[in-house]
Amino acid sequence: MQVLRSVRILSGYAMLITVVVAEGWRHSNSAVEWNPVQMMRIGIDLGGTKIEGLAIDASGTELVRFRVDTPRFYQGTLDAIKGVVDRIEAETGQRGTVGAGIPGSISAKTGLVKNANSTWLNGQPLQRDLAALLGREVRIANDANCLVVSEATDGAAAGKAVVFGVIVGTGCGGGLAVHGQVHNGPNGVAGEWGHNPLPWPNAAESPGPECYCGKRGCLETWLSGTGVARDFMAVTGREITSREIVAGSEGGDEACEAALQRLEDRLARALAHLINMVDPEVIVFGGGLSRVQRLYQSVPKLLPEYVFGHEADTPLVPAKFGDSSGVRGAAWLWPQ
Ligand SMILES: [Zn+2]
Repeated sequence: MQVLRSVRILSGYAMLITVVVAEGWRHSNSAVEWNPVQMMRIGIDLGGTKIEGLAIDASGTELVRFRVDTPRFYQGTLDAIKGVVDRIEAETGQRGTVGAGIPGSISAKTGLVKNANSTWLNGQPLQRDLAALLGREVRIANDANCLVVSEATDGAAAGKAVVFGVIVGTGCGGGLAVHGQVHNGPNGVAGEWGHNPLPWPNAAESPGPECYCGKRGCLETWLSGTGVARDFMAVTGREITSREIVAGSEGGDEACEAALQRLEDRLARALAHLINMVDPEVIVFGGGLSRVQRLYQSVPKLLPEYVFGHEADTPLVPAKFGDSSGVRGAAWLWPQ
C-alpha cells in the first residue's frame, strides 16, 4: 500500500514533470518566434543627410543594408524610416527588432528628442511615433553610444566590461558602454565629454573659443576637424582644412607638425580626465580624426604625464567597423 502510494505519488510527479516539460517546450518554441535574442536585428542610423538601415542575424552577420536621403522634416523622416524597415523585412522575409541611433538624445523627463543637430527632430516624440508606426517597441540612443555598443559587442572592444567610445570628426562626441550596454545616466548625458572644458589650459588656450552650446573652451572647439583648422589659423594665419594639416605634417611642414602635436597633447589631457573618472579598459576612437594613424602611438605615450599617479596604459584603438559602427550599434541596442 505504502509502495503503491509512493508509486502513485511518483507517477503523479512524473505526470507533473511531463506537463511542465511540455509547457516549457511550448513556451520555448513560441519564444523562438518573439524572443529578441533569437531575432534578426535592424539598426537605423538617422543622419542629417542619410538614413542607413542594416539587418544583422544573431551572430552579427550582415544580411542587408539600404541608404536613403533624409527628408529634412519630421513626418518625412518617420515615413522614410518605416520605408527602410519595410524594405529590409520584405528583402529578408523576417521581422526584426528595431534600434535607432540619432544625432541627439531622448530626454528622460519629457520623452522628446533634444540636442539633435538635425533640428527638425528636437521636441518630437520620435520613440513613441516610431513604435506606433512600426508596431513594436523601438530603442533609440545617441549615435556615439551606438558606436560604443557596436565596438563593445563584436568590435575592437569585444568582451570588455567598461568601454569608452569617442567620436572626433565634425564634432566631438562620446559614449560609455558597461557590459555591452549603453550607460545613459538619469540626465541622458553620460559620455558627453565634448562639452567639458579643455583640462589644464595654457594662457593661449584660455578662456578658449566660443562653443555653440553657450560655453567657452569646450573640448569640441579644440578636438574636431573645424577646431584643428581654427587653431591652425589662429597660430599661423593660414586657412587650410584639418585634412590638409594632417597631409602637411606627413610632408614635413613644420607648422602642420606643430598643430598635430598640439592636437595630441590636448587629446591626451582630455582622455586623462576621462581615465581619472571612469578608467575604462579600452578607449575606442571613431570619426574623421580617428584615421590619423600616429595618434594611436603618440597619445597613449602622453597619458601618464596627465593621469593621476602617472600610471596609464589604457589602449586607444580604432573602431573596428569604422563608419558602420553607428548602424551596427543601433541594431545591438537589443542585446544578445
Ligand atoms: Zn560646448
